[in-house]
Amino acid sequence: IKRIGVLTSGGDAPGMNAALRAVVLAAEHYGIETVAFRHGYQGLLDNDHVVLQAKDVLHILQYSGTIIKSARCKRFKDAAAAQEAAANLDALAIDALVIIGGDGSFRGADHLANHWQGKIVGVPGTIDNDLYGTDATIGYATAVNIAMDALDKIRDTADAMDRVFIVEVMGREAGFIGLGSAMAAGAERMILPELQKDKPLTVAALVKHIKRVQEIRGEGSYVMVLSEHQWPGGAVALAEQLEAEHHLPCRPCLLGHIQRGGAPAPADRILASELGVHAIELLLNGEHRVMAGKKANQCVAVPLPDTWQKKNPLDQNLLRIQHEIFNPVKKDRRT
Ligand code: ATP
Repeated sequence: IKRIGVLTSGGDAPGMNAALRAVVLAAEHYGIETVAFRHGYQGLLDNDHVVLQAKDVLHILQYSGTIIKSARCKRFKDAAAAQEAAANLDALAIDALVIIGGDGSFRGADHLANHWQGKIVGVPGTIDNDLYGTDATIGYATAVNIAMDALDKIRDTADAMDRVFIVEVMGREAGFIGLGSAMAAGAERMILPELQKDKPLTVAALVKHIKRVQEIRGEGSYVMVLSEHQWPGGAVALAEQLEAEHHLPCRPCLLGHIQRGGAPAPADRILASELGVHAIELLLNGEHRVMAGKKANQCVAVPLPDTWQKKNPLDQNLLRIQHEIFNPVKKDRRT
């Protein structure tokens, strides 16, 4: 391998820059030139590329976002687009491609592999932590940190006013950010996709829980973490419903894209650094169509389709603790 391509694709994640830096540094270490494509798959189609050397990426790991830009590119799903991308990669004599992104980006990587001879390795860059085969994805730790910080701040005002708050967090179809931040900040309730699938929460049950918790505690706040897409109309609609139908004063708070910015957490910078290097070493070992992951302290190679076809479950012990041990209503029932 003499020349590799690299791109960041899909939703940006804190640590993508650190992963890019690691890819470039590792490539240079092994005598490989790196060509970065800007704006994800769109850059492959537009031939929007730039050669990156170590000096270009040395001090980018402390920043979120991605210096080579990310994008969503609908057209890439077409076979013709993948063929176009393959022709552009061949014209630049690129032997292998590193794709930093989430499950959609890996589907795109697999799609490209059907039309291109070069080797492809993915690096898990998404705040959602929804990729099978790695204990964490790059960006997840930072997103949980930001959500926790917001929940702490909400708790101050909620406590002062004895108020109910609903904080809506990201996560796509997975509840990792919701569970992690709820646990880290001591939220009274979580509405997560995995829980909603099993047993959707009704407003009546929620109101009962809030009232019971308020009754047991006498005074104080009730803070709820709501994963995106888990309530029609989101946190705003649910808060309105609680207030209008059940006379429960309630305030919504939408964290939105704040969850993707600021300084990446150390865990994300370190994971990104390790997996960026691992991606290059996998390519040098002849691996193809795999994601560079880390599982139980070991660097692993996960077949790309596994990353989206299989699912990492939520931590069942954390769920149990939240539901059984930290739930004041359950405690009330036992005593
Ligand atoms: P995140 O979930 O963190 O936002 P992601 O990588 O899952 O990241 P997507 O928007 O789902 O983000 O996918 C990124 C890009 O990957 C898409 O815009 C598209 O270009 C490409 N892609 C997604 N799915 C496919 C597919 N089935 N075939 C080909 N390309 C795809």
